[in-house]
Amino acid sequence: MTIPYGRQDISEADIQAVVDVLRSEFLTQGPAVPAFEKAIAGYCGAQYAVAVNSATSALHIACLALGVGASDWVWTSPITFVASANCARYCGARVDFVDIDPLTYDLSVERLAEKLAQAEQSGCLPKVVIPVHLCGQPCDMADIRALGQRYGFKIIEDASHAIGGKYRGEPIGNSRYSDVTVFSFHPVKIITTGEGGMALTNDSELAKRMVKLRSHGITRDAAEMLHAPDGPWYYQQLELGFNYRMTDFQAALGLSQLQRLDQLIATRHVLAGRYDKLLKDLPVTTPWQHADSYSAVHLYVIRLQLDGMKGSHREVFECMRTAGIGVNLHYIPVYRQPYYARFGFKSSDYPQAENYYAEAISLPMYSGLTEAQQDLVVAALRLATRA
Ligand SMILES: *Cc1c(COP(=O)(O)O)cnc(C)c1O
Repeated sequence: MTIPYGRQDISEADIQAVVDVLRSEFLTQGPAVPAFEKAIAGYCGAQYAVAVNSATSALHIACLALGVGASDWVWTSPITFVASANCARYCGARVDFVDIDPLTYDLSVERLAEKLAQAEQSGCLPKVVIPVHLCGQPCDMADIRALGQRYGFKIIEDASHAIGGKYRGEPIGNSRYSDVTVFSFHPVKIITTGEGGMALTNDSELAKRMVKLRSHGITRDAAEMLHAPDGPWYYQQLELGFNYRMTDFQAALGLSQLQRLDQLIATRHVLAGRYDKLLKDLPVTTPWQHADSYSAVHLYVIRLQLDGMKGSHREVFECMRTAGIGVNLHYIPVYRQPYYARFGFKSSDYPQAENYYAEAISLPMYSGLTEAQQDLVVAALRLATRA
């Protein structure tokens, strides 16, 4: 059987929490969603949390709430899942990418500063920048915030990999350095609701807009209506929203998973530390850890030292898959996707992203990974890199 690169960790308590909702009055729009929102906001130290049906939806309504439209630019990292860029396209905005840092693999603050200075000259500064905490490793948020203040852009943290992590000793998601932070609860992420996501903010207006946008643009709050309600049945649709709601049984699962979040991440750190040791004498570069931060270790990405290695990146990857190790590659640079090719990106503008793509492999990393399985992964890699 294949060892996957990631998988969910479901306890009996999680199952019971979902069953309890299935036996209750509400499957959706009941008490579990607000309870989950409150718990996540409390855990992260953010004022408001808006639960939705995916991180993709959270990114979309965050962009809309920040006023992203067809005349705007949104910048993100090229080494991310396509959703980090697609959210801007949903709003009709143009997307551009900032090359990555060769050490952290996150968007490079130096490249961002350079690109902003150029964009200021040509009058096309971004409205929003979306840093992605790749693998759970936080971006340099204080520096990005300082640039945001100088150049007037808003910030959405794509923290899909990073719930439970810390930046400068504080929880990711407190949105101290951003306008909105987004989490994903897809099963391969740190905690899951099946499908699901959350948008956190400290701005009450943004929170209100996102709450409306996730449910058709409708309000039932008389204070927000354009005139007094016609009667007790009344609601008003104030703008064009969506059905991006999370169900109550999903929220119950998330709430139950949240109780184990710190423990799940501690286990990931033990596994990462063990990989670091076991891989010491292999021709690979192991992940770098910022001294000021605590990664959620969503992914464990190694880079092959191809100089002096017989096999190619692809051959090592295929060899691992053949050996039953479900390695993966996070990610194909987004500008390389056929959909994005139409915008005329040049690979040569992103040398670090290109180098990364030529060398990176995600090894299996999830809380249920056993030491024996880890040993199998390392043995397979030893063979694959020797071949
Ligand atoms: C998983 C992921 C998303 C999308 O999450 P969904 O909940 O599946 O919509 C967005 N950005 C990044 C970086 C991700 O890894």
